Amino acid sequence: MNGTLALPPPPRNVGLVCRACGCRHFHTVYTRPRDGYILRRKECRNCGRRVMTREQIGC
Ligand SMILES: [Zn+2]
Repeated sequence: MNGTLALPPPPRNVGLVCRACGCRHFHTVYTRPRDGYILRRKECRNCGRRVMTREQIGC
């Protein structure tokens, strides 16, 4: 066994990856503060897929 599998790096908190096309370039359509978090709608710049994200309000 000389298998040295090249594992992909663990996902860090570097933002989204589009599930449809795999690109990471999103732009924010809108941002809406909620009670305890921020709701963002983002749109893939490549294919136009939209995703919703929640971001905790830190600090
Ligand atoms: Zn995409």
